[in-house]
Amino acid sequence: MEKTKGELLKEQLFLKAENATTKLSDEELKKAHDFCEPYKKFMDDAKIENEAVVVAIEKLEAKGYKPFESGKKYVPGEKFYYNNRGRALIFGTMGTRPIEQGVKILASHIDSPRLDLKQRPVYEKDELALFKTHYYGGVRKYQWVARALALHGDVYKKDGSVVHVTIGEDENDPVFMVSDLLPHLSKDQNQRTLKDGLKGEEMNVVIGSQMFKDDKVSEKVKLNILNILFEKYGIIEGDFLSAELTMVPAGKSKDVGLDRSLIGAYGHDDRVCAYTSMMAELDYGDEKPEWTSIVVFADKEEVGSDSNTGLHSAFMEYMIADLAAPYGVPVRTVLSHSKCLSADVSAAFDPTFPDVYERNNSSFLNHGVCIVKYTGSGGKSGTNDCYAKFAGDVRRVMDDAGVIWQTGELGKVDQGGGGTVAKFVAALDVDTIDIGVPVMAMHAPMEVVAKTDVYMTYRAFYEFLKADL
Ligand code: MN
Ligand code: MN
Repeated sequence: MEKTKGELLKEQLFLKAENATTKLSDEELKKAHDFCEPYKKFMDDAKIENEAVVVAIEKLEAKGYKPFESGKKYVPGEKFYYNNRGRALIFGTMGTRPIEQGVKILASHIDSPRLDLKQRPVYEKDELALFKTHYYGGVRKYQWVARALALHGDVYKKDGSVVHVTIGEDENDPVFMVSDLLPHLSKDQNQRTLKDGLKGEEMNVVIGSQMFKDDKVSEKVKLNILNILFEKYGIIEGDFLSAELTMVPAGKSKDVGLDRSLIGAYGHDDRVCAYTSMMAELDYGDEKPEWTSIVVFADKEEVGSDSNTGLHSAFMEYMIADLAAPYGVPVRTVLSHSKCLSADVSAAFDPTFPDVYERNNSSFLNHGVCIVKYTGSGGKSGTNDCYAKFAGDVRRVMDDAGVIWQTGELGKVDQGGGGTVAKFVAALDVDTIDIGVPVMAMHAPMEVVAKTDVYMTYRAFYEFLKADL
């Protein structure tokens, strides 16, 4: 049947919403699913930022990336990585284009919301030993109780040596948990608001109950626990001051749904963009690239990007300055000509809670990589509002390469909001736009992404690195 005039016109004028699971060929769908198998492994091996740095460096070194040397004149094709204190990472490949013409930046973050241990965490109360915690990032506290938690992190001992701790991930490991009230006795607690269902100082983690056998000492359960830690790791109580230990959901990432189209995991935000940008760079770096690539895994995004491993610090600027200096090019010249994708997740529309989203401007699972022109809250406060030309350039690159994309902002106006690292990169005069994978149940112990979106995001990052922008 011939199309009517209205049908043809609609085709021409309307922005089409496209579900990748019907749009992609079976072969491409399989590619998307296959792409996500090693991604799940990455998520299991790299639950916190220091682990993500270690895992990434392993992959980079296997592909010929070498530790960055300040003062060295890098030639096209040379691959480097810069490890910022074991918690943030920059890596890339020197391109054939003169560096004064700018670099291509892919900036994601590798920290995720969780329960950090306080610096004096161990205590004993009523014959139980517990950890005091201080939640990190946007945590809905009630989601973190009465479930298996694992302990991850690094402890720097007085002699300067470091111990990496992971307890709760191996099948035979013990796990930990934050206790909650039984329904029979929660009459008063039930009157609390959801936000205070459990309060910050109630997020105490059960770590033991067995006493050290010695009638002469008090705090026998705490003593027994500290003794176990000392015997296994050589840690004493004072070492917690120089430790970054955290409680994250225990267990592995899993396919979600009978059709296995989704992945449930802890911390897709934002290791899904970290992983996809790394895979894009690994492919791009092998192709004698034209543009110099700078892939950033930042820390501290979930707490506002502050501290010297977050992108509010100058570490990326300094590193690019060091890369440009041997060519006699000031860093401001490089940055002013650079382009950045702030690679971070967006909030996928959730049919159970439609009221907080504005449907036309929401991202949907399986609708591809989500391009977000501006972030922020209220009247676009705290935003990076990308200027329209660059948004258009990115859109063209995606369309030309057949990358399925969508757009969406973070919920209804005045419903909440949030930001990313974009504004800190933009503050360096770099053209910057937000783009990434839609996530359902963001910041929950189990977050959900669609496999086709993960794959499209990888493709988007690769095409961006290659594109003439
Ligand atoms: Mn994020
Ligand atoms: Mn986040």
